[in-house]
Amino acid sequence: MVFPDIELDKWIETNPIFHDIINLKSVLWTNPNLRRVKGLPKQPIDKNDMAMAEQLWERFSPYLAKVFDETKAANGIIESPLRKVDSMKKRIESEYSTFSGGDLFLKCDNELPIAGSIKARGGVYEVLHHAEQLALESGLITKEGNYEQFASDKFKKLFNQYSIGVGSTGNLGLSIGIISAELGFNVFVYMSADAKKWKKDLLRSKGAHVLEFAGDFSEAISTGREKTIADPKGYFVDDEDSKHLFLGYSVAALRLNKQLKAQNVLVDAEHPLFVYLPCGVGGSPGGVTFGLKQVFGDHVHCFFVEPTHSPSVLLGLLTSLKEKVSVQDFGLDNKTEADGLAVGRPSKFATSISDYLASGIYTVEDNELYKLLAMLADSENIYLEPSATAGLLGPEKVLNSTYLTQKELCPGNVTHLAWATGGALVPKEEMKHFYEKGKSLL
Ligand SMILES: *Cc1c(COP(=O)(O)O)cnc(C)c1O
Repeated sequence: MVFPDIELDKWIETNPIFHDIINLKSVLWTNPNLRRVKGLPKQPIDKNDMAMAEQLWERFSPYLAKVFDETKAANGIIESPLRKVDSMKKRIESEYSTFSGGDLFLKCDNELPIAGSIKARGGVYEVLHHAEQLALESGLITKEGNYEQFASDKFKKLFNQYSIGVGSTGNLGLSIGIISAELGFNVFVYMSADAKKWKKDLLRSKGAHVLEFAGDFSEAISTGREKTIADPKGYFVDDEDSKHLFLGYSVAALRLNKQLKAQNVLVDAEHPLFVYLPCGVGGSPGGVTFGLKQVFGDHVHCFFVEPTHSPSVLLGLLTSLKEKVSVQDFGLDNKTEADGLAVGRPSKFATSISDYLASGIYTVEDNELYKLLAMLADSENIYLEPSATAGLLGPEKVLNSTYLTQKELCPGNVTHLAWATGGALVPKEEMKHFYEKGKSLL
């Protein structure tokens, strides 16, 4: 579906923001469809599904602690630290000269075990869910059993008869590839052209089959989907339409609630929490937002961030066409250094939920990501991949908009939280290059 120019003009008439979007300008859009949590139409999942997802994570914790050393200290719970980043806040204030009042926190999913990115939540969850289904059906385990057994040869033999496929720009492939190979599945990762070489190499070293594509993420997904489901024992992790990925991400909210309490951060009507989430297909920011709304209700305000070249969820929501529209339809090239966010078409499952729950979306230029990367490294000694820094511009973008006045909120009382979505697995040389690029731009 390509919109002829005349259609483009029509869109611009409905909202002048389209003009800036197609001209690759950084924009901030606030969502007119945002609903109060109490007034939400029935959703395809609810709080109970989230609680069940949390229980699945708990059942598998003895297994994870057994096979992934880095999860031992937390008894097999895959979680990341929440850090208050005062020095970065000062650095942002001096660079952009606006952000004041309210603390800035970083949710360090760059440190998540197993995959080093937020994909350790969704991706690992969906594969564990699938493995559990197979093990239950074959009578190898009951939900009350000891899940350490998933590491045994008996289980590996079972899973070895099955295949798992996934299409990825990189990080989802890493998480699915690593956990699937560890369980014994035959795993096929369909990588888009923008996927980094080191990610492919790492996956191959773990025993995953990596198939490379000349096209973008959507093409990698369609081919992967087709090939995987042609195998009767194949299971496709569908980033464009997955309830399980979404639920895996949502559990983050229950953990964050505890972390905020432990750091004495109050979240209520007067002290709102603003969360900034880097967004690709919309699954991770959608799932986290869904979870946060279950926990904090209307006191949490969630903003998604996309690259100016890949504003897929923004276009999906603005046009109400959701997964039926791509950035290419609007003449955008979907080319960005933020490989985790290089997605041209939004997720069907996630976007219909985010339609009611996201407060807004802003877009950023690639150069800003590198600058933030270097600023964070200098001020806090924290190293993220470029995609993962996008949320750090949130306070500056949102405080400069009319959002707070509309909502009658006091800027000084807002707690800001940027979700740092990835970075731990980036090779040193690559990171050095990112950092130097950022320094040269500052
Ligand atoms: C995948 C990813 C995102 C976005 O998640 P989506 O589910 O694609 O929206 C953000 N940051 C990083 C580092 C990622 O890998």
